[in-house]
Amino acid sequence: MIKENEQGILIVVSGPSGCGKSTLDQKLIESRNDTVMSISDTTRNPRGEEKDGVDYNFISTEEFEQKIKDNKYLEYAIVHSNKYYGTPNKHIDELLSKGKNIILEIDIEGARKVNEKRPDAVFIFIMPPSMEILKNRLMGRKTETKEQLVERFKTAYKEINEVTKYNYVIVNDDLNESLLKMNSILECERCRVDRIEDVYLGNQEEMIHELLVDFDKKN
Ligand code: ADP
Ligand code: 5GP
Repeated sequence: MIKENEQGILIVVSGPSGCGKSTLDQKLIESRNDTVMSISDTTRNPRGEEKDGVDYNFISTEEFEQKIKDNKYLEYAIVHSNKYYGTPNKHIDELLSKGKNIILEIDIEGARKVNEKRPDAVFIFIMPPSMEILKNRLMGRKTETKEQLVERFKTAYKEINEVTKYNYVIVNDDLNESLLKMNSILECERCRVDRIEDVYLGNQEEMIHELLVDFDKKN
């Protein structure tokens, strides 16, 4: 038997705010039942329609800092100048061992930390087709103030410079095409040689004997 490793894949998705990460990840998890999103903790306030426990766990700075002390995060970072964001450790190994792929939608600093702890993770960078389009998508979302838009746009330039540290890049122009690429990356990763857990081909002599018997029967 040749047996593939049945562990899920830890997938890190980064890219500048407004490039379409959430839209794409949401579509991906809707399209396959073997993939889930990790829900991060954050100290920022909910915006728009966001729900606690669904989009993020919205917690206080005190609670976040206590959880850092208690070693509850796979990674955490301060994003957009002053807010904590972190990936809880809880459930990650359990879900992976059940064969679920887990998406971490996190910033470049968080991705670097995950790379140190989990080199088996797959790193995907989502790129906007142009900065003009990024600006229009960010503004079109209508969820940020003018100051927040400027902050996110500044961060975008820094983040895009880090793209070469990732394994894959998807230029998110046509959404369906991007989704196809995400699915293709997952399929490719499943076929990696290092995901083969066991190769047992049986006894060579016996196999050849069987082959000769079969051949004689048919000829
Ligand atoms: P992020 O999670 O990276 O901050 P969002 O997923 O919130 O970005 O997307 C920002 C805006 O761009 C949203 O209004 C979304 O509907 C839109 N969007 C995302 N992907 C595309 C795409 N491929 N083409 C056009 N608009 C898109
Ligand atoms: P937003 O406030 O727009 O939801 O997210 C801002 C940024 O924080 C995005 O780049 C997002 O990927 C990142 N982010 C969200 N959750 C986490 C997390 O758990 N850890 C880290 N390091 N970054 C995160």
